[in-house]
Amino acid sequence: MKRLLCALAALSFITATVFSVSGCVFYASKYQKQYIGAFDTLTVISGYAKSKSEFDSVADELFERLTEYHRLFDIYNEYEGINNLKTVNDNAGVASVEVKNEIIELLLLAKNMYALTDGAVNVAMGSVLELWHEYRQNGLTEPENAELPPEDKLATAAEHTDIRNIVIDEENCTVYITDKELSIDVGAVAKGYAVERVCEYAVSEGIESMTVNVGGNVRTIGAKADGSDWIVGIASPYNTDDVLCTVSLKDLSVVTSGAYQRYYEVDGKRLHHIIDPTTLMPSERYISVTVICEDSAVADALSTALFNMEQDDGKALIESMEATEALWVCADGSLLYSSGFCAMSDIGA
Ligand code: AMP
Ligand code: MG
Repeated sequence: MKRLLCALAALSFITATVFSVSGCVFYASKYQKQYIGAFDTLTVISGYAKSKSEFDSVADELFERLTEYHRLFDIYNEYEGINNLKTVNDNAGVASVEVKNEIIELLLLAKNMYALTDGAVNVAMGSVLELWHEYRQNGLTEPENAELPPEDKLATAAEHTDIRNIVIDEENCTVYITDKELSIDVGAVAKGYAVERVCEYAVSEGIESMTVNVGGNVRTIGAKADGSDWIVGIASPYNTDDVLCTVSLKDLSVVTSGAYQRYYEVDGKRLHHIIDPTTLMPSERYISVTVICEDSAVADALSTALFNMEQDDGKALIESMEATEALWVCADGSLLYSSGFCAMSDIGA
């Protein structure tokens, strides 16, 4: 088995590449920097630059921005001087909250993805997800007393998940939750959105060759310095130290949702963190779903949504979208691919 290359395939820390432009020769080296904190996960930024200091200053700026997005989309903590999604949730049924444009943009994207996937990804499911979160935390800290959330509690919470009750006023940059029992949880889309925005910023700063990996949510900018594709490993759902396959990417994102992440067990059954809105239980169709497309926010939303969709519906959706591919690892271990996936991957090679 190949080793997991964790987004940036086999990067030695610094490798020099020689370029020849109009008769001049210069060196571009490959650098990598890792951070912990934003979105409670590991961020790995890699790319080419003329010097380590140039690379470090861009990478530090990107991480600073990721941290800012984390604060804005946090539903658990308050931060002085900002209205974040916790502020919006705390004001449900009480008042509209003025927020930064990024929150408006994220919620508009989430509403679009809800419509596109027939509700398979619903950021208004906070009340249901909160219950699962609470029981998962208990199950992880006291495995011998692990329990499922009671059905009646789930059913009551599910009465407060109508995404239309998140009212967005784009002109005044406000959000108002009209149902006081409804809460927003953007765990399915926030990382991807943040990664996309910071990569957009990097491009605006002249970056031509970089990858940003936030907890496995990977966005590539351009190609490698020699013009070849970035090779990104997709973690095996059976052993996350191994790769299931690699994919070749240029200006594309790859995002995986997995049942092997963040689960607890009750009576030998794994209860993971992706909740099917129709059953209110962890979806049992797949072990992992990977999506490749340009926009990392869309890839993130889609990978969660596909997890909750039947194979035929999910495949039809992906085939209807331009330049979008997916890989499903089904519950029985079989693999399903969209029509263009294999051409981008070494799967089965
Ligand atoms: P991801 O790892 O991107 O698939 O997102 C999983 C996270 O999204 C979970 O930890 C929950 O916070 C949230 N989530 C789980 N199920 C859903 C769902 N059906 N719709 C929207 N968000 C969900
Ligand atoms: Mg997602």
